[in-house]
Amino acid sequence: MRLFVAVNPPVEALQELSDAAAPLHGLSGADRLRWSDPDGWHLTLAFLGEVPAADVPALEERLGRVAGEHGVHRLRLAGAGCFGDRVLWVGFDGETWALRRLAEGVRTVVEEAGIESDQHGFHPHLTLARAGSTHGQRRATRRLAAGELQLMAAALEGWRGSEWEASELHLMRSELGYGPARYTSVRAWPLARWEA
Ligand code: ATP
Ligand code: MG
Repeated sequence: MRLFVAVNPPVEALQELSDAAAPLHGLSGADRLRWSDPDGWHLTLAFLGEVPAADVPALEERLGRVAGEHGVHRLRLAGAGCFGDRVLWVGFDGETWALRRLAEGVRTVVEEAGIESDQHGFHPHLTLARAGSTHGQRRATRRLAAGELQLMAAALEGWRGSEWEASELHLMRSELGYGPARYTSVRAWPLARWEA
């Protein structure tokens, strides 16, 4: 199954972003983007790709251990940008050092489990929209004019959402089909709360 590890912001934070992003849908080029579904908005810590079902129990055991070794931390959604001319994203602010350490811990155990995860650097983001066609669709999508994605990112650049607590680590499953990818939480573990 297609797996990734993520932190899922609370619905209140997603609602705030959904409200803040609504005006973007009226901008030039917006109709040529695939806007991600707010219900599925997440923060990917590691992308694992296809993992044989037989390897999942050992992976879960390791992820559970990582969750217990990293503390809850405060984050907020903040700012926006794009990856090339393909992805419009929203960034994260706050105790991102804790988030970064959690992601490193996750990537380490994923590797120890013998799973090849994405080797790109960790760029904490939430994907708001993508340019390009959906999986399996031949439909030719017109490319965005240069700068349209950047203008959308600029419109959200100064936006900052409310602070919330990242308190759980999720092993997520992604199912690709003809429509948008469907994400479901396979298993979740609480992050540590240490007594002061
Ligand atoms: P779609 O592929 O339909 O555009 P998606 O990218 O959200 O949707 P997946 O490809 O299953 O669905 O990816 C699941 C999550 O992992 C997403 O957050 C995605 O951005 C991230 N992801 C996918 N591929 C990689 C990769 N090679 N490196 C880093 N993150 C990735
Ligand atoms: Mg993808």
